[in-house]
Amino acid sequence: MLSSEILADPVALTRALVDIESVSGNEDRIATAVQNALGKNLTVERVGNVVVAATDLGRPQRVILAGHLDTVPVAGNLPSTVDGDLIHGCGTADMKSGVALALHLAATVAEPRYDVTYLFYDCEEVESERNGLNRLSRSHPDKLRADFAVLLEPTYGLVEAGCQGTLRAMVTATGRRAHSARSWLGANAIHAAGTILQTLKTYEARTVTIDGCTYREGLNAVRIAGGVAGNVIPDECRVEVNYRFAPDRTEEAAAAHVRELFDGFAVEITDSAPAALPGLTAAPAKEFLAAVGQPPQAKLGWTDVARFAALGVPALNFGPGDPNLAHTREEHVEISKIRAGAEVLRRWISG
Ligand SMILES: [Zn+2]
Repeated sequence: MLSSEILADPVALTRALVDIESVSGNEDRIATAVQNALGKNLTVERVGNVVVAATDLGRPQRVILAGHLDTVPVAGNLPSTVDGDLIHGCGTADMKSGVALALHLAATVAEPRYDVTYLFYDCEEVESERNGLNRLSRSHPDKLRADFAVLLEPTYGLVEAGCQGTLRAMVTATGRRAHSARSWLGANAIHAAGTILQTLKTYEARTVTIDGCTYREGLNAVRIAGGVAGNVIPDECRVEVNYRFAPDRTEEAAAAHVRELFDGFAVEITDSAPAALPGLTAAPAKEFLAAVGQPPQAKLGWTDVARFAALGVPALNFGPGDPNLAHTREEHVEISKIRAGAEVLRRWISG
């Protein structure tokens, strides 16, 4: 039960949420607590363990504040403890302090300048198929309609906009098997893979600046496999390549680039996820940046902002936690960062 005193204080609320254990797949209790905390000025809907609460004030623009309710497995770090300015515990940074900010605003800002959709979802820390935001985007895409979204993932109080895409490809060199005592009768696929490795070694990754955010690409071998036996010239060598690409490229363009680089080899795209443009030109985004008062940075990893971008909703990450502490045993969040984040969001959303 989250009392109105707790909802009024984002620090107390962070602790209360952290102390409701919610490892992915076990979000029932926290989703119910969040649902019950959302006031009468909001239309609240529960879809599984996704909770969506929306204002309907007839404002010209709608923004989304979103956060996941789940955590990675507890590492002997619950219940939370406080030590000076720090709250320690599983989920403090990633991302219950962010969820607390959204829930605190939902409970305390009656007249936001935009219509607001508060979105709390499950299973972010596990495979994409189970991800609550992913499921909602398929079952209720209308609930994700907005002009701008803020995902309250840990950024240590910075604005991290857009995100890079990621693609994995298997690049295969082929040859002909032979007895290694008569190697001239074969063609060595491992040697042929040297050309693939040379391409990777000399590859000059692009640096792309969009809306003031600089995205640094990367193309790397992440695995290699080949060989048959100690006396056989190998006929196949497979190099798994991971390409992290800037948001000026679509998944298709990224795949075409990789195929072109490894022309002459078999290239199979095994996995890909799109990048997201920073989308900082929408009016609510500009107003958000003004409230933060700091230049945005590029998000280099892949995050759920890409799911919003895929639906045509520009999105960025902004949260009080330190992303370097996410998923660690030492996970903690600064109380001062929670208070500062609450102030920024309040300034922005109340106008
Ligand atoms: Zn997270």
